[in-house]
Amino acid sequence: MNTEMMKQFENLFIELKKNTLNEMKMVAPVNEKGDEIDLSQEDRQMALDLKLLGRQSFMLKKIDNALFKIKNGSFGICDECDGEIEINRLRARPVATQCIACKEEEERGEGQMLYEKRSHTHGKALGGNVIPLRAHAEDLATVLTGNSEY
Ligand SMILES: [Zn+2]
Repeated sequence: MNTEMMKQFENLFIELKKNTLNEMKMVAPVNEKGDEIDLSQEDRQMALDLKLLGRQSFMLKKIDNALFKIKNGSFGICDECDGEIEINRLRARPVATQCIACKEEEERGEGQMLYEKRSHTHGKALGGNVIPLRAHAEDLATVLTGNSEY
């Protein structure tokens, strides 16, 4: 990748980071008003906010990681095989850290894990039409610790 292109991606990431930070500020909870709000409603809203914040902070980490790579010149190199990530892939998904071949390899493995997780959560959610907060927390944990791209 040439310097000019690298610079373009850098600007893109700086912009992305700004937007993400702004979105996080908007979501950032909170109910300091002390209004009487239906608790379950509040819980559900909080779970949604947490989920969103989780995704955004996950995104921020990816952006910072990409900016770091641009600085040390390793941007656009696949984490797995050290090959170059296809430029069209980077245009479509600038935070990609793997080439298509490695990503597909990984997704095959993840598909199985996701399936197990889903059936597990489904079992717990049975018996009520309200999704328990814990299910959201699990989602959040997946978002924060997983390396899947959405
Ligand atoms: Zn690769």
